[in-house]
Amino acid sequence: MHLVDTHCHIDLYPDYAHLIDETEREQVYTIAVTNTPSVFHHCKTLTAGKKYIRTALGLHPQLVRERHSELSLFFDLLSETRYVGEIGLDFTNREQGEWDIQKRIFTSIVRRCAEYKDKILTIHSRRATADTLDIIGDEYPGKIILHWFSGTPKELERAVSYGVYFSINSSMLSGAKGRHLISNMPIEKILTETDGPFIKNAGKVIRPKDINETISQLASLLDQDETETSEQVYNNFRRLLT
Ligand code: MN
Repeated sequence: MHLVDTHCHIDLYPDYAHLIDETEREQVYTIAVTNTPSVFHHCKTLTAGKKYIRTALGLHPQLVRERHSELSLFFDLLSETRYVGEIGLDFTNREQGEWDIQKRIFTSIVRRCAEYKDKILTIHSRRATADTLDIIGDEYPGKIILHWFSGTPKELERAVSYGVYFSINSSMLSGAKGRHLISNMPIEKILTETDGPFIKNAGKVIRPKDINETISQLASLLDQDETETSEQVYNNFRRLLT
C-alpha cells in the first residue's frame, strides 16, 4: 500500500532522527514542512539523500508577526526547493493589525511562488478561508494544497472551482463537520497528512507511518476498500508532482 503524508513537521519531533529512519523504512512519501526560513537548511540537511522525504520552505502565519523580517531569507532560499509550506493565514487571533501583516506576507509569498510556476504550496487557512482563497486566486500556475480545510460548504465549492488539492488528517475525519466537507471534495483532489506532531491518534502523537489508519478511516467514509483509497491518494499525489 502506498502511503502519502503531505504535511508533517518532522523537525519538531523530539526523536526526529528515528522518525526519519522509520518514515523511510515504511516508505511514506512525506513533505516535511517547516515554520520559519531559518530552520529550512537544518531540516534539509536532516532529510538529505532520503528517498521518501522532501523539505518545504515555510513561514507559519502564527509566527509572521515576530518573524516577518525573515521574508527576505525566504526569498533567498526559494530556488532551493519546489515545496513551500507551512504558509497561509490564521485569524484565530482577533487583532486586525496581525491579520494585515499576515495578508501582506502571504500575498508576497504566493506572488513570488507564482513566478516559478512549478511550486507546490501547503497552506493553512484557519478562520481565514475567504481571504486565503482571495489571495491564491483561481489562476495560480503551480499546485495548491489546502491543509486541514475547515471552511464552509460554500467556501469549499469555491476552493474546488480553483482546482486545489485538500490534505485530510485524522482530526478532520473524527468530526461531523470535517467528514461532511471531505465527502463533498472531488476524490481526485484528496491527499492525506498527519500534521504531526500536533495531532494525537488514540492518545499517541501521530507519525507518518500512522497514515495507514487515516487511509482506513477515509476508506470507510468514502465506502471504498483501503487499497482503493490508498491508490487513489497515491495517484493524486503523483499528479500533484507532474
Ligand atoms: Mn502544520
